[in-house]
Amino acid sequence: MPNEATLVIIKPDGLKKSLTGNILSRLSETKLKIIGARVMVVEEELAVKHYSHLKDKPFFQELIKYITGSLHGENRVMALVYWGKDAIQKVRDIAGATNPEEAEPISIRGAYGRILTNGLYENVIHASSSPDEAQREIKLWFEPDEIVYELYPTKIIVAEKSERKVWA
Ligand code: UDP
Ligand code: MG
Repeated sequence: MPNEATLVIIKPDGLKKSLTGNILSRLSETKLKIIGARVMVVEEELAVKHYSHLKDKPFFQELIKYITGSLHGENRVMALVYWGKDAIQKVRDIAGATNPEEAEPISIRGAYGRILTNGLYENVIHASSSPDEAQREIKLWFEPDEIVYELYPTKIIVAEKSERKVWA
């Protein structure tokens, strides 16, 4: 099995419950390398793109509210890229099943997740489910320069008249 990358997102409930340290400790059991990490606010546009495969599900609107933080009054998430052998499966094993009640009790979702009264699975972390999904997701959440390895092909563009924020 070759090395591969996977996207992990510690969702707003994870940050609100101060679970970041516990989750990173659990994920370190995989011996995978962290090659990108950022704390960020998730805009609706990113959320919709990330979960586009679920747009016809009855829980889609609630899911968007969840990942953008309006459900928890906490709009930060932590996004990480892990890299190494069998990274996708190793992370999903420690994350546990999507439904926190079906997840192994010692998995992250089994230990810290719950089902909301409206049925939404509040399951603390996202983990990519296939190499294609990982690539699609990592390109949504990270710029090439925010990852320490060149995972995917890049190109240089000259952006004229572009604005960016610098320290004052
Ligand atoms: N989800 C839910 N109910 C479902 C399926 C999914 O609330 O029946 C939520 C849950 O938070 C999950 C996210 O939607 O993590 C994305 O669903 P997916 O099927 O991709 O599961 P995952 O890959 O996160 O295990
Ligand atoms: Mg998924």
